[in-house]
Parts: sequence; structure tokens; C-alpha cells
Amino acid sequence: MTCLELNTRQNEILDIVKGNGPITGEQIAERLHLARATIRPDLAILTMAGFLDARPRVGYFYSGKKPIKSVADGMVDMIVANYQSRPVVITENLSVYDAICQLFLEDVGTLFVVDQQSLLTGVVSRKDLLRTSIGRTGLEKIPVHVIMTRMPNVTYCKKEDTLISVAKKMMDSQIDSLPIVQEREHGLEVMGRVTKTNITAAFLSLVEDQDV
Ligand code: ADP
Repeated sequence: MTCLELNTRQNEILDIVKGNGPITGEQIAERLHLARATIRPDLAILTMAGFLDARPRVGYFYSGKKPIKSVADGMVDMIVANYQSRPVVITENLSVYDAICQLFLEDVGTLFVVDQQSLLTGVVSRKDLLRTSIGRTGLEKIPVHVIMTRMPNVTYCKKEDTLISVAKKMMDSQIDSLPIVQEREHGLEVMGRVTKTNITAAFLSLVEDQDV
């Protein structure tokens, strides 16, 4: 079911039921100076959309529920700013060994790498670190900038972007997270992080308010 824009009469009916419910269809029609048959489709819509509940021999009453929105309607309204996480940022010369420690300490899957000016230069994922570590010693001597995915190949987003656009970027690039950036004169400052977990949480929030 899609999200409904209620018309004037449907809003009037909603107000009447809110103030007077439970109330029969006949009584609602009387108040509006209309025939019962005229408002029948409006009552059907309001009931199906979850605004009103109807009980036989009792009448209509206000459900207090939010109207049912389709997942698609709910998702298109969601913007990154409302579903972001704190970014974990490291500098380019941090060793692979220390980066692995950061990954565990901060409990994240991806680290964003910045230069001396705190501008984004790259991304290091857990598999990047694992790949470098297998069968090798001296991880404390390898700086992360040697193994990171570097600019301009980093996929990023802005806080006003939609979650849908972020989800698409994640799927297209086969990545788990994106830095949220703000443009500065000489590059991009990392302001936040959006991950597949954030997207999943947003998805779940669409149904949490409803009886499913
Ligand atoms: P993992 O490698 O742990 O499965 P990802 O799937 O996120 O994590 O990363 C896959 C590859 O993509 C890694 O090599 C990583 O450096 C790179 N990567 C991760 N995030 C981004 C990003 N936002 N932009 C560009 N490349 C990224």
C-alpha cells in the first residue's frame, strides 16, 4: 500500500472521529450533511490505511496508528544525516599493525585515512589488512598508505544524500561503508560514516512503529 494523501473530506472525517469516536458511519455522514453512501469510499480508505478502526455495532474510532507507508515511500525520505555513525579516522603513516589494533578497539570494519590537513586520502578495510598480514611479519613497519584504496577511488557521500543513493553506491562498488564528507578548499573532510548496518537499521525502523 502506498502512502496516502488524504483529501479534505477524509481529513474532516478523521477530525470528527478523533473528537467523537466511537461514532457510526451514519452519524459521521449526518455531521457532514452528506449521505452515508457518499462517504463510504472515504471510510474504506481511512480504515484500510490504518487511520481508523471499525467495530461492528460500535462504529469507527481513531486508531492512533501512523498510516501505513510502503517501504519505498519511507526509504526515499531518509537522508544520511539521520542514520550516520561516528567515523574512525587514522593518519597515512600509521602502521598496518596499529591499524588492526584500531579496528578492534573501535569495533569497526573500515578505517578512513587522512593526511596532515585531516583531508581524506584513502580507505582501509578489514580484508585489506588481512591480505597484508597473511604470512608476513614486520606489520609495524608498513604504513597504511601503501595498502589503502586511495583517492580519487574512494566512494563517499554527503550528509544530505538519500540512503537509497548510498545503498546503490555500496552495491555498485561492493563496499560496506562510505565516509560522509564535507568539501573544503583543498579536499574532503571526513564528517561521518555510513555503513550497511546503518542502512539495515533504517530499513527496520520503517516497520518498528507498526504492528508487524
Ligand atoms: P572488506 O574488504 O573487509 O570486505 P569492503 O567490502 O568494504 O570491506 O571493502 C572492499 C574493498 O573496497 C577494500 O579493498 C577496500 O579498501 C575498498 N573500499 C572500502 N570502502 C570503500 C569506499 N568507500 N570507497 C572505495 N573503496 C572502498
